[in-house]
Amino acid sequence: MADIIDLRSDTVTKPTPAMREAMAQAKVGDDVYGEDPTVNQLQELAAEMTGMQAAILVPTGTMGNLSSLLAHCDRGDEVILGHLAHTFLYEAGGMAALGGIHPHQLRNQADGTLLLDDIRNAIRPDDVHDPPTKLITLENTHNRCGGVALSVDYTQSVVEIAREHNLKLHIDGARLFNAAVALGVSAGELVAGADSVTFCLSKGLSAPVGSMVCGSNEFIKRVHRMRKMLGGGMRQAGIVAAAGIVALQQMVERMADDHHRANELAEGLGAIEGIHIDSQDTNMVYISLTEEVALSPKDLLARSYEHGVKYSSVGGRSFRMVTHAWIEDDHIAKTVDVVRAAVAG
Ligand SMILES: *Cc1c(COP(=O)(O)O)cnc(C)c1O
Repeated sequence: MADIIDLRSDTVTKPTPAMREAMAQAKVGDDVYGEDPTVNQLQELAAEMTGMQAAILVPTGTMGNLSSLLAHCDRGDEVILGHLAHTFLYEAGGMAALGGIHPHQLRNQADGTLLLDDIRNAIRPDDVHDPPTKLITLENTHNRCGGVALSVDYTQSVVEIAREHNLKLHIDGARLFNAAVALGVSAGELVAGADSVTFCLSKGLSAPVGSMVCGSNEFIKRVHRMRKMLGGGMRQAGIVAAAGIVALQQMVERMADDHHRANELAEGLGAIEGIHIDSQDTNMVYISLTEEVALSPKDLLARSYEHGVKYSSVGGRSFRMVTHAWIEDDHIAKTVDVVRAAVAG
């Protein structure tokens, strides 16, 4: 089909013409020797934009989180994280399988946060029976909680708890820039006081490949070793880093349009009988089919796709739609029309 409106995820974004051009022109070297000037430039830019000392390019967000956890924790250490955290649900259990790290899940609130008291109560005493608590991780924006952005104030409260108890704080900021744009703050303000943050270049920022890990010089040095151990040391990676630089320079502010369109989409879909809007935050819209509708969730997806609109099931009668740089205003109206027709049968 020619013109599919693909709302499954912001990962479907393809590199922009400016990225293709930058990739073609990129100066490269062997990054395992630290000699790729374009990778080095991207790393400096990422560090600057997050207010951290240093940054390192990794192939994926999953490797970014795993290498960060491995750099923060020893085998047998415990990490506190939400039961809906991407790292807990969707990263193949890497922390346990490869790091021997014990995940201590706390209930994510609907707004993506963990209750501060739950965090305090989860921190283990120094007792031979207990795995030592080493790390807290937050996710911003929170994917499974509807793409909601965690505020600067909330993050600062968790920074304080971490400091008080001598713990580290890692932020899975796969969509950190969506959060920053939505809240009208800088990425640096959102992660101030955290020990590390990962963010994806290949989601709303539209680069073809890559994520960044940012933190102190000493921390990034340890992540560098872990990246090598995990097989993520790349050679002339400047080819992909060049797109990452364009992503950070040109694709951040425009995400406000994605958020606006997600909002319009939710408004349009919300007016359809049989569709319930579960949530709308940043670039995500979660919807469900109400009980009155006889149509099966599978048939709704199939009918929508027949008419050129793709989105994902998130189980049961619920679905996720994600706006991104390839979704335009007229796609919003068309999606609403297609879903309305599909539900009406
Ligand atoms: C996408 C995502 C990641 C990492 O994903 P990769 O597909 O490995 O790049 C991590 N955390 C969150 C919240 C994500 O949405």
